[in-house]
Amino acid sequence: MIAARDIAFAYPRGGFALKVSQLDVAPAERVGVIGPSGTGKTTLLNLLAGLSRPDAGTLSVAGTDLTALGEAGRRRFRATHVGFIFQNFALVDYLNAYENILYPYRVGLGLKLDSQVRERAHALADACGIANRLKSHPQALSGGEQQRVAICRALVTRPRLILADEATGNLDPETKEVILDLLFARAAEMEATVLAVTHDHDLLPRFDRVIDFSTLRQAA
Ligand code: ADP
Ligand code: MG
Repeated sequence: MIAARDIAFAYPRGGFALKVSQLDVAPAERVGVIGPSGTGKTTLLNLLAGLSRPDAGTLSVAGTDLTALGEAGRRRFRATHVGFIFQNFALVDYLNAYENILYPYRVGLGLKLDSQVRERAHALADACGIANRLKSHPQALSGGEQQRVAICRALVTRPRLILADEATGNLDPETKEVILDLLFARAAEMEATVLAVTHDHDLLPRFDRVIDFSTLRQAA
């Protein structure tokens, strides 16, 4: 699902540079990523999602060579293949929770919004315990509720790859387990791969494999 070789990336105006010599993730694998803040975990997820492009190296995700695609191609790739749960949720503040969940369909890119998708959005919201919050806008939702909206939005397109950036960070321990159960159950059903950055060491035994980001970087 993921094959990265000798990828390098630096922010245009920043001093930060990331190098990863090798990262391989198998289809349907559930991988946890741990590591200190500010070391480039989010930067790596952005590269895997096609939000940014490596300056060097090769990066193939779901059989697509991301280094060969331009901005529009990567946007289409992301819409159709990747569910991204952002660290800061990245909800759209003028849309209510339901509209936020369906946001990937609003931006078009070959995704078709039909009654089946709407049903799926409701089922996900129900499973995440936010069915009664769908008319609320992000500013009226708690952090945990916003996080669950973000999770529903990442799953509603039935992506091949789910990238989660500290997706359970704002939740209480019990809800964390419930949300991870849900994430893993949906991923298993879709045979989707999960790569999740987490600081929740309690959750690590539930992954097939845990990568220490410090080691991944040092290998460069
Ligand atoms: P982590 O997710 O591990 O906390 P990040 O990938 O968010 O780390 O950030 C790694 C480094 O890159 C940090 O030093 C951060 O300040 C810097 N950084 C993040 N985003 C940008 C940006 N858009 N422009 C310049 N520097 C950035
Ligand atoms: Mg981060």
